[in-house]
Amino acid sequence: MPTTLITGANRGLGFETARRLVAAGHTVYVGSRDRERGRRAAGQLGARPVVIDVTDDGSVTAAAEAIEADGGLDVLVNNAGVEGRTRDGGVLGAADLTAELLRPTFETNVFGVVRVTHAFLPLLRRSAAPVVVNVSSGLASMAGMTAPGTPAYAYPGVAYPASKAAVNMITVQYAKAFPDMRINAVEPGYTATALNAYTGTQTVEEGAEIIVRMAQVGPDGPTGGYFDVNGALPW
Ligand code: NAP
Repeated sequence: MPTTLITGANRGLGFETARRLVAAGHTVYVGSRDRERGRRAAGQLGARPVVIDVTDDGSVTAAAEAIEADGGLDVLVNNAGVEGRTRDGGVLGAADLTAELLRPTFETNVFGVVRVTHAFLPLLRRSAAPVVVNVSSGLASMAGMTAPGTPAYAYPGVAYPASKAAVNMITVQYAKAFPDMRINAVEPGYTATALNAYTGTQTVEEGAEIIVRMAQVGPDGPTGGYFDVNGALPW
């Protein structure tokens, strides 16, 4: 059975994805930037804890070395993410945005995905059936964000959609570069988690469905795509 790492799996969609993949027989590493939160979550799930802060080169390298020493990796779920808020808790809209305010969102959501993927690529390339799932968002879709009358169109933030649009492009380019891997971006849907102060309209069980499905995709499955639970999404 596959060995799987999920970043940001101590809570929310990552935790639920870990629960489902453990049930499916995967050996799951619960990635958490906080050692104690990760240890607790992994204990609840029957998974293995690994400390990984996706914004920290040393932390990511140490996690890759530990998992390599344990036997390697087949499935990487780049799930850790932040929405990126102003100091008073608002979304980062165009009127507020500065390069300085944009940076932390990109550091986690974009550079974090590249940092982790780069560190784990040698392990994935040794797998017989390597899979990468990048947890994107419906707000990454140019088509969605430019379609008047949709909830996506009404979303005022810049930092988060821009970061997830970058994740989509990274997904496409990695998928072309590594045709032997299945590398896809997924949109879980608006899900009640700490990310949105539990205002999401779906449960984590519903939201994790497409992440779990794409983590289990076989070598003949899709790659370089962008999916929600109902199928392919327009970029
Ligand atoms: P969440 O409950 O806030 O979980 C986010 C996870 O990411 C937490 O475990 C958090 O760890 C971790 N994280 C944040 N920064 C990190 C870092 N630097 N290094 C390692 N881990 C870090 O939110 P969620 O909704 O489950 O989000 C999971 C993914 O789904 C994100 O990529 C998000 O953008 C995406 N998504 C969510 C929704 C939604 O409606 N909820 C919709 C579309 C996409 P701590 O506990 O230590 O903060």
